[in-house]
Amino acid sequence: MHTLLQHDLDHLPEILKQACDTALAHLSALPERPVCAPEEHQHLKLGDDRLPETGVGAQLAIAQFWQDYAQGFSASAGPRYFAFVTGGATPAALAADWLVSAIDQNTQLHFDSVASAIELATISQLKQLLGLPESQCGSFVSGATMANFVSMAIARQWLGQQRGVDVAQQGLHALGPIRVISAAAHSSSVKALSMLGIGRDALVNVATLPNSEAIDPQALEQALIESDGLPTLVLASAGTVNTVAFDNLPALLALRERFGFWLHVDAAFGGVAAASSLYAPLLEGWQQADSITVDAHKWLNVPYDSAVQFTAGQHLALQVQVFQNHSAYLEPPSVRPDNYLHLTPENSRRFRALPVWMALKAYGRDGIAEIIDRNVTLAKKLASQLEHTPGFKLLAPVLLNVVCFALDSADGTPGEVAKRNQFLKLLDKAGVVRCTATTLADKPGIRAALVNWMTEEVDIDLALQSMIECRNAV
Ligand SMILES: *Cc1c(COP(=O)(O)O)cnc(C)c1O
Repeated sequence: MHTLLQHDLDHLPEILKQACDTALAHLSALPERPVCAPEEHQHLKLGDDRLPETGVGAQLAIAQFWQDYAQGFSASAGPRYFAFVTGGATPAALAADWLVSAIDQNTQLHFDSVASAIELATISQLKQLLGLPESQCGSFVSGATMANFVSMAIARQWLGQQRGVDVAQQGLHALGPIRVISAAAHSSSVKALSMLGIGRDALVNVATLPNSEAIDPQALEQALIESDGLPTLVLASAGTVNTVAFDNLPALLALRERFGFWLHVDAAFGGVAAASSLYAPLLEGWQQADSITVDAHKWLNVPYDSAVQFTAGQHLALQVQVFQNHSAYLEPPSVRPDNYLHLTPENSRRFRALPVWMALKAYGRDGIAEIIDRNVTLAKKLASQLEHTPGFKLLAPVLLNVVCFALDSADGTPGEVAKRNQFLKLLDKAGVVRCTATTLADKPGIRAALVNWMTEEVDIDLALQSMIECRNAV
């Protein structure tokens, strides 16, 4: 063994302790850490792109890394990072994630270790948490983008099957064009259309309900009539990123009865609201979706990267048709919900289920629901304070955990965009709260998405104070 490897093997306890101390240094400073790393700390140190011919051992490597880059990281895991939809990591989830690396299992098949049994059990617990039926099958993937991709790949296979075509064997050209209908498809679904060979142009955007991002079922009905029997996939939103609008899923299911399309529900973060009895009704009907996306690294507060893709049980064989992987040294595919090698894009897979499993064990349904309820309460509080603060206005009522607002007098002119951008820049620089830009109904807006388990009332006060200061400086 190389002397440095032998040295590190002999000093494993010290190395892990050093990593733990380093992590604690970061985490304990989170509430005060600038939400955005200062620009001057976001650069690589000179020479750090050169491969070391001789190493320094783990202890020096970690120490040097932290010395050089500690200030280069954002407080994205902290309580006032409202940009995008950014979850943090609860203590149990974080600890479990470390154990995932230590145990280092390749969770791809249902033999060799207990890991896939735990993944299956985690899926089962998630279904209980979210009110999904046992008949939905699920696998862990790296994020909602991948869950959307997998779901739409199975949809593609199903649409082919309806017409006697095996797309996985014959290719998409044997089926011909697919129609994809949505009102507010997430950009990751549009990316998936490209990755799947369906093509971005296949997407037909239909109208939303007035003053809403939710699909207008009548407009959808009209589009389905016009589809005239073309293979059709409908992308429903269960929580849009700007206003957390939920499509009327029972209405969509009724249309599915008549038109026979594949219904995919992108519930990347909105789906987790089903853990709270207060908001579970928003998801009514999703139990019958053909496929569903739920992110774990957003509102479930596990570390990156983690999401779950659900497939209605009757479609599992189609999922195997798409993702089966034959090799002399591998177990042949069979239709089972824990045959992950044959159900997901990856061959080798991290033991991604463990952080969710541990978080559910540590905090239970109550604990997760409390995060949801608190985030929503605080989002509403932030909204009502912004509404009553000169210089701000809401762009939409707060339906759940995202506040979509604008600088007052914003009327969509380019000058307003510049002002908004300037405001966000100042906000980043102040470092107290991070928000991101958006456009809602052609108006330049700002989003604050609350999904972090640490966010408390005091964070809303601090955030608002910083927003007012930056507003006054624009
Ligand atoms: C975040 C998000 C995605 C993409 O998720 P990743 O985990 O970043 O891949 C897809 N859909 C919706 C609605 C989202 O909020």
